[in-house]
Amino acid sequence: MSRILLRGGRLIDPAREIDETCDLLVAQGSVEAVERPGRLGLVEDATVIDAGGCWVVPGLVDPHVHLRDPGFPEKETIATGLRAAAAGGFTAVAAMANTSPVNDSPEVTRYMLEHAASVHAARLVPVSAVTRGLGGRETVDFAAMVAAGAQLFSDDGIPIDDQAVLASAMEQIGRLGFAISLHEEDRTLTANGAVNAGEVSKQLGVAGVPARAETERIRRDLALAIGAGAPVHIAHVSTALSLDLIRAARRRGAQLTCEATPHHFALDDRAVLRWGPNAKMAPPLRSARDVEAVVAAMADGTINMIATDHAPHDPHSKRMERLAGWFSPTSDCGRLPEGDGEALTRAANGVVGLETALGLALELVHRSVIGPARMVEMMSLRSAQLLRMEGGTLEEGARADITLIDPNMEWTVDPAKFISKSRNSPFAGRRLKGRAIVTIVAGNVVYDGRSGART
Ligand SMILES: [Zn+2]
Repeated sequence: MSRILLRGGRLIDPAREIDETCDLLVAQGSVEAVERPGRLGLVEDATVIDAGGCWVVPGLVDPHVHLRDPGFPEKETIATGLRAAAAGGFTAVAAMANTSPVNDSPEVTRYMLEHAASVHAARLVPVSAVTRGLGGRETVDFAAMVAAGAQLFSDDGIPIDDQAVLASAMEQIGRLGFAISLHEEDRTLTANGAVNAGEVSKQLGVAGVPARAETERIRRDLALAIGAGAPVHIAHVSTALSLDLIRAARRRGAQLTCEATPHHFALDDRAVLRWGPNAKMAPPLRSARDVEAVVAAMADGTINMIATDHAPHDPHSKRMERLAGWFSPTSDCGRLPEGDGEALTRAANGVVGLETALGLALELVHRSVIGPARMVEMMSLRSAQLLRMEGGTLEEGARADITLIDPNMEWTVDPAKFISKSRNSPFAGRRLKGRAIVTIVAGNVVYDGRSGART
């Protein structure tokens, strides 16, 4: 294993409150030395990477992705998903359990880890289902899943409706030292909604998903979390009131973390008028006021981490053959004919995000909403802590999972160039400033975009 010298980069390591120009030497898969420029002396046999003008940060960790493998290779595979992750600057991603078969048994967890091990890209962190088959009734064998390698538990995609099942799961998972991640949705309130309830759902003439479908379920589950005294994580928070409830529950002692996705902090529901099914997900894009609240909560520390909720889908699942003609990136569409409203309602939820998340987070940095250290904290340190994994820091001796970011490289999002197998992005054509240019996992370069070919 060769040595790598990252020379002259801006090292940002929020765990140690370091933000200064340094040389960093990687050897034997670990961070061997971090020194002021020039202090390392002559480093023989090392591959030198000029990090001047770039940020050297602990590898980005995404606590919420869907890799569709096993089960849906036309959407994504473990190999394509982990390569897309590396290209986006991620050194580890937590793969949700709604595969086919569901990851509710050690066999599926082992399948995921074995396939990931043969891919030269980001690490895969398995997320175990909470209930068998995501059915919401019978819990999985939590200890067996941990023994197989699971590091987080979630039925993501589907809420756990039964309070007794959820309360018991919280306690058992907490006792094992892990967290449970909750997809918060009251499906009696979601009803058959396609997009956020508001002006946009009215304009399209489709049923809307009210904000309270999320907030009422969060209200219920935060009470359970306080009762259980166990670590609980709220996935993809999307409304202002949800954030107020989270703040209040923390004051009452809940062990609570939460995440925001790039689409929920970078887009409001008007994006649906342009992108149609490629801007449809659960929870849906919300009002401009909610987006403002999410951004403010990222700045004030209420939101702990950024998660992509990378959800690849093929055009058929998105009903594109029927709907593509209606939506246009340049003009808002109007009311949908009845059958097309139905198609939008039936279109699969979710957008891809691994290759755009960093550029979108950097928009907040360039707008001075958050500082670089806060961004790195939300995209690396806190997610690593949630997943109970080593990472999130570049102290000497740490595992050499490192992301090199050029914060000023300008590029245009072109889904045709994604490494992911899917193209369902509402960010096509968006100009972004900054991207990962080198991604290192265990001391090996797994992505090198320095040629600038992928702009
Ligand atoms: Zn979800």
